[in-house]
Amino acid sequence: MTDDRDNPLLAANEAATESELPPLAFPGGDFFRENPLLEAVEALTKPERIQLKQDVVEKDAEGAVTAVVGKEDKRVVLPSLLAQLDAAIHSSMGGNSAGASLAFEGAPLNTAALFQAMKISSQVRDWCYAVKVIPVKNTAADLTAWFNVFSRSNPELEVERYRVKVLHGWASSIRGMLNPPREKDLPDACPVCSATEWWDMKTGAKYSRPLVIRYRPTDEDLVGDAKGFCRSCETVWGARELAYAIEEKAG
Ligand SMILES: [Zn+2]
Repeated sequence: MTDDRDNPLLAANEAATESELPPLAFPGGDFFRENPLLEAVEALTKPERIQLKQDVVEKDAEGAVTAVVGKEDKRVVLPSLLAQLDAAIHSSMGGNSAGASLAFEGAPLNTAALFQAMKISSQVRDWCYAVKVIPVKNTAADLTAWFNVFSRSNPELEVERYRVKVLHGWASSIRGMLNPPREKDLPDACPVCSATEWWDMKTGAKYSRPLVIRYRPTDEDLVGDAKGFCRSCETVWGARELAYAIEEKAG
């Protein structure tokens, strides 16, 4: 015990009595809380780091792939969501005649991207004017300039929370647009309603394989986040849960 007094760290700790400590910035003790508004802005303006599963391949002497021997995690840096949205708009422009049918298929996405980008930039410009920042017609730059002034203006918590919600809404709608969910149907009967067929209300036709798995290829936990859906009884499962239910029923 007596040796502790020789330890400078412990001595310093003892010296810092409660009255000498700086007051907590946020009563309630969340002194180390993150800045949700900054996070929401950066979700749109900072390059995105994602992890993908990539094939591990074997190659011959000429460098041609001869076999896929496994999967490995690969870290990829993507442009910011706003930059990706911008790229999605411009990808529909300057096409040639050979790419006409592809450009046509891509048109709905790019129109959606254009409208989304216009909606965001117009809202960000309004926010800028409200805090007397002159926008420069670059949404990421305007959003950053707005944040720097707005966050120092001691905004009301309700207003700040609403901005955070709007920003996250934009981020998720851009993600949905750039990375639409994929579907894979399953051959099994539904473990809940036992259906092996389903009616499509849109086409009025009957199809087989009612069970479908919906997933996003870039999800970090692809299987964990994937959802199962029965197009006959509209039951929704986690993909693992559905696999288990199918097995239970078969066994
Ligand atoms: Zn069903």
